[in-house]
Amino acid sequence: MFFGGTGDLAYRKLYPSLFNLYRKGNLRTHFAVVGTSRQAMDHEKFRAAVKKSLADSGNRVESKEATDFISHFYYQAHDVTDTAHYAVVKDLLDKLDKKYKLQGNRIFYLSMAPQFFGTIAQDLKTQGLMSDNKDAFNRLVIEKPFGRDYDSAKQLNDALSKSFEEDQIFRIDHYLGKEMIQNIEALRFGNTLVESLWNNRYIDNIQVTLSEKLGVEERASYYDNSGALRDMVQNHIMQIVSLLAMEQPVAFTDTDIRAEKVKALRSLRVYNVADAATNFVRGQYGSINDQPDYRHEDNVPNDSTTETFVAGKLLFDNYRWSGTPFYVRTGKMLADKFTRVDVVFKRPLVDIFAFPQSQSTPLAANVLTIFVEPHAGFSLQLNAKTNDTGFQTEPIKLDYLVDAEKSKETPEPYERLLHDVMKGDGTNFSSWPEVSYAWKFVDQIRRVWDLQEPNFPNYTPHSMGPAAAEELIQRDHREWIYRL
Ligand code: NAD
Repeated sequence: MFFGGTGDLAYRKLYPSLFNLYRKGNLRTHFAVVGTSRQAMDHEKFRAAVKKSLADSGNRVESKEATDFISHFYYQAHDVTDTAHYAVVKDLLDKLDKKYKLQGNRIFYLSMAPQFFGTIAQDLKTQGLMSDNKDAFNRLVIEKPFGRDYDSAKQLNDALSKSFEEDQIFRIDHYLGKEMIQNIEALRFGNTLVESLWNNRYIDNIQVTLSEKLGVEERASYYDNSGALRDMVQNHIMQIVSLLAMEQPVAFTDTDIRAEKVKALRSLRVYNVADAATNFVRGQYGSINDQPDYRHEDNVPNDSTTETFVAGKLLFDNYRWSGTPFYVRTGKMLADKFTRVDVVFKRPLVDIFAFPQSQSTPLAANVLTIFVEPHAGFSLQLNAKTNDTGFQTEPIKLDYLVDAEKSKETPEPYERLLHDVMKGDGTNFSSWPEVSYAWKFVDQIRRVWDLQEPNFPNYTPHSMGPAAAEELIQRDHREWIYRL
C-alpha cells in the first residue's frame, strides 16, 4: 500500500513502474494496491487517476491488460496523523488479503513528507496493520530524505526500528536503481583486467560528477532547507563512492555487499575543521540574461546561503585507496545534465617515447569513464600510435554505448527497486550503517560551513561551478576530466 498515494511521485513514477512489472509478468493475480491520502475519493475516481498516470507516461491504456491491472487498485481516505483512523485501512487490507489470497504479505510504501515516517511506522504496528502471519512478510519502503543530519536520522531510525527490523526496511536511493550504477559491480568484479588494477598503485584519482542543467524549479522550498550537500552528497554520491571503493564481496548477496560498503565507509576519513574547510567547496548560481539568480527564484529567501553546488575530495584510509583521492561534484544550473564516473589511471612510470628532440606530447593518462546518464556506457581512453611515418602517440577511445533501442527496454530505477522490494532483496537500498556513516562525514562539512557566511552567488549558470572547484583539484596538480 502507498501512503501519499495521490502524490507526484506515486502518479509519475510508482504506478507506471508497477504497470511495467505487471506487463512483464512480475505481478499477476495475487496482488492489490491501496492508495491513501487525506483527500476524499472513491475507488473509481482513484482508478481513473491511475489510468491517467499510466497514459501520461506513454502507456496504451485502452487495453484489457491496463484495465485488468487498474482493477487491482483501491483507495482509502486517511489522515496519517490520526491514530484512530488506521482501523479503516486495516479493514480494507484484511478484506483485500482474503479476496486476492495474499497470505498476509504486505509492503508499506511511505511516499510522503519525511516528518510522517516515524508516526506511520509506529501506528502500522500498534494499530495492527502489519500482518501477524509468521510466514508472511511486512516490508517498509522509505523515500528520501532520511534525516537532515546524523542526529535526526538516528532519531528516525530509532522510531522505525520499534516496529520494523533492519531487513524489513528498504531506504530508497533511486541512483542505486540505475543500470550503470549497478554495472559498477559487474565491471569491477566481472573483469580481471579492471579489478586487478583497481587500487592506489594504478589509479591516480576517481571523479564522480552528478550535473544538473535546471535550477530548483518547483522544489525550491524543500531544496532551500536542504542544499546540494544534503540532497545529493549524503545519499547518491556516497552510495556511488562506496560501490567504487568497496572490497569484493564474498558473494553477490545484499548482506555481503552491504558489509563491504559499510567497511569502505568506515575507512572514509572524517575531516577535522581545517581539512573540511580545505577539501570541500560550495557554490550558488548567479543570474544570466532573464534567468534570475538562485536567491530570486520563487520561494527562495533573498538572502539564502543554501549551496546549489558542492565539490569535494574524499580520502579512504585503507590499504587499497590510501593516497588516491575521490573527487566529487554536483550542482544545479550547470552546463549539462549528466552523471559520470571518471577513473583516472597513473601514467606509465617512464615515457620511452619522450626521447630528446622528439616533438611528441607526453603520454595521456588512461581514463575509464562510466557514463550513467543520459546515455549509458563505458569509454576507455588508451594511448596508440598515430597513423603516420614518425612515432607520435595519441589518446584513442574504446567506446561501448548502450544503443537507443536497448536503452528504451532498460527498466526505470523505480521499476527495479519495486521489484527488489517484492523479492525482499535489499542490495540496492541504503542500510542504516551506510546512512549513519554518510551523515557523520557530511555533518562535519556542514558544521564548518555553518561557521562562515559564504560569498554567494559565485558561479555563472551553464558553467561547471565556481572557480573554487577548479582550484580544489588543481591544487593537487590534477584536473577534472569533464570540462567545458
Ligand atoms: P507530494 O507532496 O506530491 O505528495 C504527498 C502525498 O502525501 C499526497 O498524496 C498527500 O495527499 C499526502 N499527504 C500529505 N499529508 C497527509 C496526511 N496528514 N495524511 C495522509 N496523507 C497526507 O510529494 P511527492 O513529490 O510525491 O513526494 C513523496 C516523497 O517522495 C517525499 O518524501 C519526497 O521527498 C520523495 N521524493 C519525491 C520525488 C519526486 O520526484 N516527486 C523524488 C524523490 C523523492
